[in-house]
Amino acid sequence: MQLFKNLFSKPLSIQLTVTSSNGFHLRPVAQFVNEAKSFACSVEATLHGKTVDAKKVNTLLSLSLEKEDTFKLTTQGKEAEKALQSLQTLFNTLMQDDKEVVAIEKESASYIGEVLEGDIISKGVAITSAYRYKTEEIQHDNTLSFNEAIAQTHKSLEAQDTDIALAQKALLTSLEEKSTSLETLEQNIHKEIDALQGTKLSAKIVDYQDILQQVKKALGLEVKVTFPKDAFILLADDLLPSEIAMLANTEIQGVILKETSINSHTAILLRASGIASLIADISEIPLNKEILLDSFGGVVVLSPHETDKKKAQQLQKQHNTKKAHSASKRFDNALTTQGQHIKVFANVGDVFSAKLAKEEGAEGIGLLRSEFLFKSVKPSLQAQTDAFKEIFDNFDDITVRTLDVGGDKALPYINIPLERNPFLGVRGVRLFRTHPEIMEEQLHAIFLASEGKKIKIMFPIVSSVEEFTKAKSFAHTVAQKHQLDISHIDFGIMIEVPSVLFLIEAFNEVVDFYSIGTNDLTQYLFAIERTHPLLQADELSPVVFSALKSIVTKATKPVSICGELAGNADAIERLVNLGLTTLSVSPKSIAQTKETIRHV
Ligand code: PEP
Ligand code: MG
Repeated sequence: MQLFKNLFSKPLSIQLTVTSSNGFHLRPVAQFVNEAKSFACSVEATLHGKTVDAKKVNTLLSLSLEKEDTFKLTTQGKEAEKALQSLQTLFNTLMQDDKEVVAIEKESASYIGEVLEGDIISKGVAITSAYRYKTEEIQHDNTLSFNEAIAQTHKSLEAQDTDIALAQKALLTSLEEKSTSLETLEQNIHKEIDALQGTKLSAKIVDYQDILQQVKKALGLEVKVTFPKDAFILLADDLLPSEIAMLANTEIQGVILKETSINSHTAILLRASGIASLIADISEIPLNKEILLDSFGGVVVLSPHETDKKKAQQLQKQHNTKKAHSASKRFDNALTTQGQHIKVFANVGDVFSAKLAKEEGAEGIGLLRSEFLFKSVKPSLQAQTDAFKEIFDNFDDITVRTLDVGGDKALPYINIPLERNPFLGVRGVRLFRTHPEIMEEQLHAIFLASEGKKIKIMFPIVSSVEEFTKAKSFAHTVAQKHQLDISHIDFGIMIEVPSVLFLIEAFNEVVDFYSIGTNDLTQYLFAIERTHPLLQADELSPVVFSALKSIVTKATKPVSICGELAGNADAIERLVNLGLTTLSVSPKSIAQTKETIRHV
């Protein structure tokens, strides 16, 4: 019966638009496919009349979805509605989280020697001789069958446990289904590469090449890369992501690649390794001769003059000093030139980032995004309590935000009927009405973890005083039910919805504190969705600052700010001048934010 029901149930469709400049590329596709596979229904994607199975990485990638492409996602079967909704929100989150590197700004550079221009992958300076990438093929004895080699490659990718390796693993899964031998695998990989050639997704070609190389290696055919013993700047057409790890054991000073793009996995890994790197035409660079790579200015000086070298070294020194200076002072309070202490807190999204925030000099946690606990399966009370406790142990001043799903954030077990405008639908504090059992368990875990510790709880997407008072009294009922004393907990709201701007006097009577979430406040002030592919609201607009001024002027309870604006170097002075004394920013921005405050 069920089979017939699935076969004859009506297909459901929505349109999704790619908003990231990177396109819908391998890493997000791998996560999307993983989620799609968990539903008992078919999932298909259609672009320009071509329909593919969206439960397979390579078929979904074959649509070559680029920024501004709108494709149709269709689900059919038992869990069609649930899948569609969950995939829609996951897609929006993936697009939003996929930080695009459009171009890294170049600093001015003038040199005496002949200069070659390039695009910056990773900033730094290197002065040494250029070395051309060389490989050597070595055939070892092979003891593995094709299937065993595939299994070994899976194992080694899994052991690396990085987003990039796991995305390659998903790609290998989809390739192996139709490959029965190394020869067919190679053919299939070449087909995929041909399809990607010339598209914006061509950056992913290296991932296919990398997989092939890794399977070949498991079969005994090793492609050995040779490096010089002394310092060198590596010139190559491109490098495979798996080759970047090998550079760590060499005297490498810089990398110049001809064919990569600033968003390829190779470029991402080079940035993470901190090696000065550039994209430039390597054919004009003399080999085994000293060159100067200045990837602050985005140039290679082909035969650098002594003055050029001094200039570049000075540049590197200045940058190191600036970075080291703010890093060395990251644990010091940030005082303005007038001596006012502005607290710099951290926005964290899991135990790891909370620990990182401590290392980076955070004075507290201004926003703990509690969504991290809610993955594909609902977390137990114990798991939630343990994670909260581990985070609470690190800081004395902590603000936890209750679950903020809905809108752009989805969960498979939180069933919200398909909404035409999810950003205006069931999200944030509105979940108290639709999913009280999940909220009860979360609050219970927070209370248990906070025993003996003064913490703050805030509710997201509050739009009326009644929403706040109801959520707070719900929290008190939960505490009573479990006989827990929560008199040490403060309750407040995030200011993200414009209606609150007109209700501050009334909120002053009931809340203990406010935290301004400029990410959502900006989107709702301008009615421009924060994930929209074509439109972008300006968080630096006078409208936003006027809203902030109105809040700070009317509020009689402490106000902090935790939206991205708090860490924006162009905003910090204005925020401090408006009277904001607590800025909550991402862990990596803490040192820099403190340094900026010291100049206000
Ligand atoms: C905000 O809206 O500004 C905010 C900090 O919350 P999130 O970005 O998690 O929606
Ligand atoms: Mg928000």
